[in-house]
Amino acid sequence: MRVPCELVEDLLPLYHDKACSEDSRALVDEHLQGCSACRKTLAEIHEQVEHPREDMEGMREAQKMWMRVRRRNILQYLIALCFLFLAIAVIAWATNPKGKVVPAENIEVSQVCRLEDGSIVFHMYTNDGKQLRSLTFEIIGGSFYFIPMQARFEADRESEQGIFNVYLSIYAPEEYKEEDSEDRDVKAMLQCSYPLKGIYVGSPGNEVVVWEMGQELPAASPAMERMMENNRSIWAYESKSDWDKYYSYLERTLGDEMFRKEGVE
Ligand SMILES: [Zn+2]
Repeated sequence: MRVPCELVEDLLPLYHDKACSEDSRALVDEHLQGCSACRKTLAEIHEQVEHPREDMEGMREAQKMWMRVRRRNILQYLIALCFLFLAIAVIAWATNPKGKVVPAENIEVSQVCRLEDGSIVFHMYTNDGKQLRSLTFEIIGGSFYFIPMQARFEADRESEQGIFNVYLSIYAPEEYKEEDSEDRDVKAMLQCSYPLKGIYVGSPGNEVVVWEMGQELPAASPAMERMMENNRSIWAYESKSDWDKYYSYLERTLGDEMFRKEGVE
Protein backbone atom coordinates (compact mmCIF):
# COMPACT_ATOMS: atom_id res chain seq x y z
CA MET A 1 0.00 0.00 0.00
CA ARG A 2 1.35 3.43 -0.95
CA VAL A 3 1.13 5.82 2.00
CA PRO A 4 1.56 9.60 1.54
CA CYS A 5 4.76 11.15 2.94
CA GLU A 6 2.68 13.54 5.05
CA LEU A 7 1.20 10.66 7.01
CA VAL A 8 4.55 8.97 7.47
CA GLU A 9 6.03 12.28 8.62
CA ASP A 10 3.38 12.39 11.35
CA LEU A 11 4.22 8.86 12.44
CA LEU A 12 7.99 9.16 12.35
CA PRO A 13 8.48 10.62 15.86
CA LEU A 14 6.39 7.78 17.31
CA TYR A 15 8.11 5.28 15.04
CA HIS A 16 11.46 6.48 16.27
CA ASP A 17 10.36 6.20 19.91
CA LYS A 18 8.92 2.73 19.18
CA ALA A 19 5.62 4.05 20.45
CA CYS A 20 3.40 3.22 17.47
CA SER A 21 1.35 0.09 16.75
CA GLU A 22 2.65 -2.95 14.87
CA ASP A 23 0.56 -2.05 11.86
CA SER A 24 1.76 1.54 11.75
CA ARG A 25 5.31 0.31 12.15
CA ALA A 26 4.98 -2.09 9.22
CA LEU A 27 3.44 0.70 7.15
CA VAL A 28 6.29 3.09 7.89
CA ASP A 29 8.89 0.37 7.26
CA GLU A 30 7.43 -0.33 3.88
CA HIS A 31 7.27 3.36 3.02
CA LEU A 32 10.83 4.05 4.14
CA GLN A 33 12.13 1.39 1.76
CA GLY A 34 10.92 3.36 -1.18
CA CYS A 35 11.23 6.96 0.03
CA SER A 36 14.54 8.66 0.57
CA ALA A 37 12.95 11.92 1.76
CA CYS A 38 11.31 10.20 4.73
CA ARG A 39 14.48 8.20 5.44
CA LYS A 40 16.26 11.52 5.68
CA THR A 41 13.63 12.93 8.07
CA LEU A 42 13.95 9.83 10.26
CA ALA A 43 17.72 10.21 10.29
CA GLU A 44 17.30 13.84 11.36
CA ILE A 45 15.01 12.88 14.20
CA HIS A 46 17.46 10.20 15.27
CA GLU A 47 20.32 12.69 15.08
CA GLN A 48 18.46 15.25 17.23
CA VAL A 49 17.49 12.74 19.85
CA GLU A 50 20.87 10.99 20.09
CA HIS A 51 23.02 14.11 20.04
CA PRO A 52 20.86 16.90 21.37
CA ARG A 53 23.58 19.03 22.92
CA GLU A 54 25.90 18.79 19.97
CA ASP A 55 23.53 20.60 17.72
CA MET A 56 21.23 23.11 19.37
CA GLU A 57 20.20 24.47 16.00
CA GLY A 58 19.14 21.00 14.87
CA MET A 59 17.25 20.44 18.09
CA ARG A 60 15.29 23.60 17.57
CA GLU A 61 14.49 22.36 14.06
CA ALA A 62 13.22 19.06 15.43
CA GLN A 63 11.16 20.85 18.07
CA LYS A 64 9.67 23.06 15.41
CA MET A 65 8.75 20.01 13.37
CA TRP A 66 7.12 18.42 16.42
CA MET A 67 5.13 21.56 17.07
CA ARG A 68 4.11 21.81 13.43
CA VAL A 69 2.83 18.23 13.43
CA ARG A 70 1.05 18.69 16.71
CA ARG A 71 -0.56 21.96 15.71
CA ARG A 72 -1.84 20.45 12.47
CA ASN A 73 -3.33 17.49 14.35
CA ILE A 74 -5.06 19.73 16.90
CA LEU A 75 -6.50 21.86 14.10
CA GLN A 76 -7.81 18.77 12.33
CA TYR A 77 -9.44 17.52 15.54
CA LEU A 78 -11.04 20.90 16.16
CA ILE A 79 -12.46 21.08 12.64
CA ALA A 80 -13.80 17.52 12.90
CA LEU A 81 -15.35 18.37 16.28
CA CYS A 82 -17.06 21.47 14.84
CA PHE A 83 -18.57 19.40 12.02
CA LEU A 84 -19.76 16.81 14.52
CA PHE A 85 -21.51 19.42 16.66
CA LEU A 86 -23.02 21.03 13.59
CA ALA A 87 -24.36 17.67 12.39
CA ILE A 88 -25.87 16.92 15.81
CA ALA A 89 -27.48 20.38 15.95
CA VAL A 90 -29.01 19.97 12.47
CA ILE A 91 -30.38 16.50 13.29
CA ALA A 92 -31.81 17.76 16.60
CA TRP A 93 -33.46 20.70 14.83
CA ALA A 94 -34.93 18.56 12.06
CA THR A 95 -36.37 15.87 14.33
CA ASN A 96 -37.35 17.94 17.36
CA PRO A 97 -40.99 17.11 18.24
CA LYS A 98 -41.42 20.73 19.22
CA GLY A 99 -40.47 21.60 15.65
CA LYS A 100 -43.66 23.23 14.34
CA VAL A 101 -47.39 23.37 14.77
CA VAL A 102 -49.31 21.81 11.87
CA PRO A 103 -50.54 24.67 9.57
CA ALA A 104 -54.24 25.47 10.05
CA GLU A 105 -54.94 24.73 6.36
CA ASN A 106 -54.02 21.08 7.05
CA ILE A 107 -56.26 20.72 10.11
CA GLU A 108 -59.80 19.38 9.67
CA VAL A 109 -62.33 19.65 12.49
CA SER A 110 -65.74 17.97 12.17
CA GLN A 111 -68.65 16.45 14.09
CA VAL A 112 -68.52 19.09 16.83
CA CYS A 113 -71.20 18.38 19.45
CA ARG A 114 -71.89 18.61 23.16
CA LEU A 115 -72.16 15.67 25.56
CA GLU A 116 -74.68 15.56 28.37
CA ASP A 117 -71.98 16.36 30.96
CA GLY A 118 -71.13 19.57 29.10
CA SER A 119 -67.99 18.31 27.36
CA ILE A 120 -67.47 19.33 23.76
CA VAL A 121 -66.46 16.52 21.39
CA PHE A 122 -65.11 16.75 17.87
CA HIS A 123 -63.09 14.83 15.36
CA MET A 124 -59.64 16.10 14.41
CA TYR A 125 -57.72 15.08 11.31
CA THR A 126 -54.53 16.49 9.83
CA ASN A 127 -54.57 16.01 6.05
CA ASP A 128 -50.95 16.57 5.00
CA GLY A 129 -50.11 12.85 4.98
CA LYS A 130 -47.42 13.33 7.64
CA GLN A 131 -47.04 11.74 11.04
CA LEU A 132 -47.77 13.74 14.17
CA ARG A 133 -45.09 13.84 16.86
CA SER A 134 -47.34 14.95 19.65
CA LEU A 135 -50.67 16.47 20.46
CA THR A 136 -50.54 18.77 23.44
CA PHE A 137 -52.91 21.34 24.87
CA GLU A 138 -52.58 24.73 26.41
CA ILE A 139 -54.85 27.50 27.66
CA ILE A 140 -53.85 30.76 26.01
CA GLY A 141 -55.72 33.99 26.69
CA GLY A 142 -58.65 32.10 28.23
CA SER A 143 -59.03 29.81 25.21
CA PHE A 144 -58.21 26.13 25.00
CA TYR A 145 -55.84 25.06 22.22
CA PHE A 146 -55.20 21.49 21.09
CA ILE A 147 -51.75 21.77 19.53
CA PRO A 148 -50.67 19.18 16.93
CA MET A 149 -46.87 19.20 16.65
CA GLN A 150 -44.59 17.82 13.94
CA ALA A 151 -40.84 17.63 13.50
CA ARG A 152 -39.42 20.02 10.84
CA PHE A 153 -39.18 17.14 8.41
CA GLU A 154 -41.87 14.78 9.59
CA ALA A 155 -42.09 11.26 8.18
CA ASP A 156 -44.93 10.26 5.85
CA ARG A 157 -47.63 8.24 7.58
CA GLU A 158 -47.93 4.58 6.72
CA SER A 159 -51.56 4.18 7.67
CA GLU A 160 -54.51 6.31 8.70
CA GLN A 161 -54.16 5.18 12.29
CA GLY A 162 -52.67 7.59 14.77
CA ILE A 163 -53.03 10.67 16.88
CA PHE A 164 -53.71 12.71 13.70
CA ASN A 165 -57.07 10.96 13.26
CA VAL A 166 -58.90 11.02 16.57
CA TYR A 167 -61.89 12.20 18.54
CA LEU A 168 -61.03 14.80 21.15
CA SER A 169 -63.09 16.16 24.00
CA ILE A 170 -62.80 18.97 26.48
CA TYR A 171 -64.89 19.60 29.55
CA ALA A 172 -66.52 22.96 28.85
CA PRO A 173 -70.00 23.04 30.42
CA GLU A 174 -72.12 26.15 30.15
CA GLU A 175 -72.27 26.10 33.93
CA TYR A 176 -69.10 24.89 35.64
CA LYS A 177 -69.42 22.24 38.33
CA GLU A 178 -66.21 21.05 39.91
CA GLU A 179 -67.34 17.50 40.56
CA ASP A 180 -68.17 16.94 36.89
CA SER A 181 -64.64 16.79 35.57
CA GLU A 182 -62.74 13.51 35.73
CA ASP A 183 -59.21 14.57 34.99
CA ARG A 184 -57.75 16.39 38.01
CA ASP A 185 -55.02 18.22 36.10
CA VAL A 186 -57.32 19.42 33.38
CA LYS A 187 -59.89 20.33 36.00
CA ALA A 188 -57.39 22.47 37.90
CA MET A 189 -56.27 24.11 34.69
CA LEU A 190 -59.83 24.78 33.54
CA GLN A 191 -60.88 26.10 36.91
CA CYS A 192 -58.36 28.95 36.61
CA SER A 193 -59.66 30.07 33.27
CA TYR A 194 -63.34 29.17 33.39
CA PRO A 195 -65.44 30.04 31.49
CA LEU A 196 -63.49 29.20 28.31
CA LYS A 197 -63.68 31.80 25.55
CA GLY A 198 -63.11 29.26 22.83
CA ILE A 199 -61.72 25.91 21.76
CA TYR A 200 -59.27 25.67 18.87
CA VAL A 201 -56.90 23.28 17.14
CA GLY A 202 -53.58 24.90 16.28
CA SER A 203 -51.90 27.90 17.83
CA PRO A 204 -52.98 31.57 18.12
CA GLY A 205 -52.95 33.06 14.62
CA ASN A 206 -52.81 29.57 13.10
CA GLU A 207 -55.94 27.92 14.37
CA VAL A 208 -59.12 26.16 13.36
CA VAL A 209 -62.17 27.04 15.44
CA VAL A 210 -63.90 24.18 17.22
CA TRP A 211 -66.23 26.30 19.29
CA GLU A 212 -66.46 29.88 20.54
CA MET A 213 -68.32 31.25 23.53
CA GLY A 214 -72.03 31.75 22.86
CA GLN A 215 -72.07 29.29 19.95
CA GLU A 216 -74.85 26.69 20.18
CA LEU A 217 -73.80 23.12 19.54
CA PRO A 218 -75.91 20.10 18.62
CA ALA A 219 -76.30 17.50 21.35
CA ALA A 220 -74.18 14.38 20.94
CA SER A 221 -75.98 11.33 19.60
CA PRO A 222 -76.45 8.33 21.92
CA ALA A 223 -73.72 6.55 19.94
CA MET A 224 -71.32 9.44 20.53
CA GLU A 225 -72.17 9.47 24.25
CA ARG A 226 -71.42 5.75 24.38
CA MET A 227 -68.15 6.12 22.47
CA MET A 228 -66.86 8.87 24.75
CA GLU A 229 -67.47 6.83 27.89
CA ASN A 230 -64.25 4.96 27.21
CA ASN A 231 -62.25 7.32 25.06
CA ARG A 232 -60.27 9.58 27.35
CA SER A 233 -56.83 8.06 27.07
CA ILE A 234 -55.70 8.39 23.45
CA TRP A 235 -52.80 10.52 24.70
CA ALA A 236 -51.14 7.36 25.97
CA TYR A 237 -51.57 5.24 22.84
CA GLU A 238 -48.27 4.20 21.36
CA SER A 239 -48.36 0.79 19.74
CA LYS A 240 -50.21 -0.34 16.64
CA SER A 241 -52.37 -2.65 18.75
CA ASP A 242 -53.47 0.36 20.87
CA TRP A 243 -54.64 2.07 17.72
CA ASP A 244 -56.25 -1.08 16.32
CA LYS A 245 -58.26 -1.33 19.53
CA TYR A 246 -59.18 2.35 19.38
CA TYR A 247 -60.52 2.21 15.81
CA SER A 248 -62.36 -1.05 16.34
CA TYR A 249 -63.90 0.53 19.45
CA LEU A 250 -65.00 3.52 17.33
CA GLU A 251 -66.40 1.12 14.76
CA ARG A 252 -68.34 -0.83 17.37
CA THR A 253 -69.78 2.18 19.19
CA LEU A 254 -70.19 4.77 16.43
CA GLY A 255 -70.88 2.48 13.48
CA ASP A 256 -72.01 4.61 10.52
CA GLU A 257 -71.50 7.84 12.47
CA MET A 258 -67.78 7.17 12.59
CA PHE A 259 -65.48 9.60 10.86
CA ARG A 260 -63.97 7.54 8.05
CA LYS A 261 -60.63 7.82 6.33
CA GLU A 262 -59.11 5.43 3.88
CA GLY A 263 -57.44 2.59 5.75
CA VAL A 264 -59.76 2.80 8.75
CA GLU A 265 -61.91 -0.30 8.77
ZN1 LIG B 1 8.07 9.58 2.07
